[in-house]
Amino acid sequence: MDDAQQTLKRPVRYSGIALHTGVRAHVTLNPAPANAGVVIRRTDLAGAPPVRAHASQVIDVMRATTIANGPARVHTVEHVLAALHALGVDNAAIDMDGPEPPIADGSSAPYVALIQEAGLVAQDAPRRYFEVKEPIFIERGESKMVLLPDPQYRISCTVKYNATILDTQYLSLTVTPETFARDLSLARTFCLYEEIAPLMSKGLIRGGSLDNAVVMKDGAIISKDGLRYNDEFVRHKMLDIVGDLSLIGCRLRAQVIAIKPGHPLNVTMAQAICQHLTAASLA
Ligand SMILES: [Zn+2]
Repeated sequence: MDDAQQTLKRPVRYSGIALHTGVRAHVTLNPAPANAGVVIRRTDLAGAPPVRAHASQVIDVMRATTIANGPARVHTVEHVLAALHALGVDNAAIDMDGPEPPIADGSSAPYVALIQEAGLVAQDAPRRYFEVKEPIFIERGESKMVLLPDPQYRISCTVKYNATILDTQYLSLTVTPETFARDLSLARTFCLYEEIAPLMSKGLIRGGSLDNAVVMKDGAIISKDGLRYNDEFVRHKMLDIVGDLSLIGCRLRAQVIAIKPGHPLNVTMAQAICQHLTAASLA
């Protein structure tokens, strides 16, 4: 079948420290049936309740994207979801023994490697697409995002910080398995030095370290091994967009133009797309 849904050929496992809780987390990516979408199962909870990776399940967008099904919550899902979506995995069942996947190095690269290790298999069902017919625009303060009709999935993104070394970064690319793996997946999470103490006082980023984040202080970069891309920050923002917009539950044909995006903006757009999808299915 042309453009069939895909899942993983076999289960693959990974473990590491979770960013916010700081505990060791184990994750298994399993194959799933056609039309199942991506589901995360909390194997540490009774009955391993499934949490659908869908915009309707989002309960928090502070710093990271959190989804939930009743009391079963999963934090920081965007990096693993970005890797699955961009590499072309439509259906997967993710088993996790805690509320958060391993943060790894703060990028999607380890998940890309994991998916490549598993390999992909085509399924007996066509892929579903959301095709943008007319522009969709949202804004939250200085953050803005517009979706325009496009036969491919393209993202153009601009970020700007009040740190001289960063100033403004801009990048535009078509999202394919190859461009994601090469141009986006290695970009790491970053934060401002001034943000660290308030986050820690809230009990967040207990697993945070220079192993999994780049820190900016007074216009300088604090990082273990320098930057992986000169414009690593805009690339990580694009990685987050791919992860958050995958919460629409199908594939996307659109040109995404994002200015100073973040999880609140991305998830609001994903929810706006879902409203269009619902309206289209009711029509
Ligand atoms: Zn991120």
